Amino acid sequence: MVSYKELGLVNTRKMFAKAVSGGYAIPAFNFNNMEQMQAIIMAAVETKSPVILQVSKGARNYANQTLLRYMAQGAVEYAKELGCAHPEIVLHLDHGDSFELCKSCIDMGFSSVMIDGSSLPYDENVALTRKVVDYAHQYDVTVEGELGVLAGVEDEVAAEESHYTKPEEVIDFVTKTGVDSLAISIGTSHGAYKFTPEQCTVDPETGRLVPPPLAFDVLEAIEKKLPGFPIVLHGSSSVPQDEVDTINQYGGSLKAAVGIPEEQLRKAAKSAVCKINIDSDSRLAMTAAIRKAFAEKPAEFDPRKYLGPARDNMKKLYEHKIINVLGSNDKLEA
Ligand SMILES: [Zn+2]
Repeated sequence: MVSYKELGLVNTRKMFAKAVSGGYAIPAFNFNNMEQMQAIIMAAVETKSPVILQVSKGARNYANQTLLRYMAQGAVEYAKELGCAHPEIVLHLDHGDSFELCKSCIDMGFSSVMIDGSSLPYDENVALTRKVVDYAHQYDVTVEGELGVLAGVEDEVAAEESHYTKPEEVIDFVTKTGVDSLAISIGTSHGAYKFTPEQCTVDPETGRLVPPPLAFDVLEAIEKKLPGFPIVLHGSSSVPQDEVDTINQYGGSLKAAVGIPEEQLRKAAKSAVCKINIDSDSRLAMTAAIRKAFAEKPAEFDPRKYLGPARDNMKKLYEHKIINVLGSNDKLEA
């Protein structure tokens, strides 16, 4: 048993309380390799932002759970080395799908876990979430639950259709489970293809697809039921068109990739939404930089010569999100 506190990590409790009252959101960036992790920490340190490092089940399978945990431990020391006296870094399990997986993460030093029982019948979701909360809270680890189903594909999480969270269920769910935060479904979606062209309208000036707006009425109804309670948005990449264009320009083939417009996320970040998950955008930034480097320097074969630009591009993206979308910059104590 390793306590996250010994590793210098923090849980989400204070972080979320400050974010809700301060009208901003904490970035939750997924990572599964060193360059991503470096870019996240450099961006968080330079902007003085708290940050959540997220590990999905797929990332654990790809990169090895033990290695990822030591990388997160290294991230705390790395942030200090970069000049951040008091980094606020959460190591969070994204989409835990069983009690055993959540327990294993808690036992190896995660400071926060998500138990995603959203695809289960309501009563089973409550029971599973409660079981994880009971275990996690013994070690002061915070727990995110989910109500409602997001569409799209994220690693091993896939759903054909979305179902908005039902506001009439949230009080009962939060009371019965004791969760610290709640992921809801209001129209965000996993992956880089969040909407079909049929669901979108076309901007007459640019010819780009414009996705349907998020269900802010559902969010407001949930906030009314649970004033000040930390709300989480998954699937909140914006799929930057310049990255998509770069990928396509240099041999890629991303057709009709559409994300959530940043102005909608900015609006959400000012509400009780205090954690916004971004994964696909960093994948796009990395891929765009690597494709460009390959195309421009075909004789190059030193991985640092294309992974370096990829890291720079991801860092730029993370800083943009922190400053211009989430508003979590300058929130660390000196
Ligand atoms: Zn998710």
